[in-house]
Amino acid sequence: MNVKEEGVMENGNNIAFWLERIDAKFRESFPRRLFEWYEANAYSYPWRQAKDPYAIVVSEFMLQQTQAKTVIAYYLKWMERFGDWEKLANASEGEVLKAWEGLGYYARARNLHKIAAIVFFEKKGILLSEPTELLKLPGIGLYTANAIASLAFGKKTVALDANGIRVLVRLLSIHQPINKAGALKELSRIAMNLLSEDNDFSLFNSALMDFGRAVCKPLAPKCMICPLKEICQAEQPEQLPRRPGPRLLAASLLCFPAPFSFWMNRPLVWTRSLLSGSKTFCVRNKRKSRPSWRLLFDGRC
Ligand code: SF4
Repeated sequence: MNVKEEGVMENGNNIAFWLERIDAKFRESFPRRLFEWYEANAYSYPWRQAKDPYAIVVSEFMLQQTQAKTVIAYYLKWMERFGDWEKLANASEGEVLKAWEGLGYYARARNLHKIAAIVFFEKKGILLSEPTELLKLPGIGLYTANAIASLAFGKKTVALDANGIRVLVRLLSIHQPINKAGALKELSRIAMNLLSEDNDFSLFNSALMDFGRAVCKPLAPKCMICPLKEICQAEQPEQLPRRPGPRLLAASLLCFPAPFSFWMNRPLVWTRSLLSGSKTFCVRNKRKSRPSWRLLFDGRC
């Protein structure tokens, strides 16, 4: 990768600026220590054992906007009920939504159902492995495409979730808000730059995620016991990533409209369900998910 690749983060700073802050010690220590930490402390989630792309896609959809501990029971039940593309593709929408009941953001279930139909009926049961192809499928954004490509197909792509973003922002003491797609891409490029061809990218993605969840926590980072403390540049980590101000918050809401569309759509969905006689409105009960931008800042991920 070209380390001088341009990309503006905010306030005129670009990737070259941040890369200049990364010295040889950081480059050597960061991936090594992170992998060592992961080897000893990785969370044991049922989807981590999966090699089947279908299982990985299901878990990634469930994990969008939902905490991992909540997802476990849903994932296990789902895999028992719809164990492959064929079973999901041939299920009715009502069955799919019923199985999703309680997870919230039902668009994810509908999109997963649509993807199963595309893969099973149009692609002979084969999910294409390139992130650019995955991005064409409904409900798959940049993070999910990269996560699926690395976890299911071993592609050398970095997928940064809210936990991973927080760790990198603190390690490099980035004070610019990471609230735009361009900034996120830049952060991904920085992470790519820190890895070598020999590194296992899927392991890196999972390790960074777990590390952010267990050590570099949003409100109370465990700096005293952190294996990256020596190379971490954050002076007041609990203040990073920077919270969006009113204007940035408005932009975040535009970028992550799920919680708002959820409430705004409810009356429409209920009306449509009653008119059509469908029972899908019954499954729209209490959701257990939270908007992803909040995961960057609050203490409950
Ligand atoms: S030293 Fe603290 S802020 Fe820095 S990576 Fe470790 S836990 Fe996070």
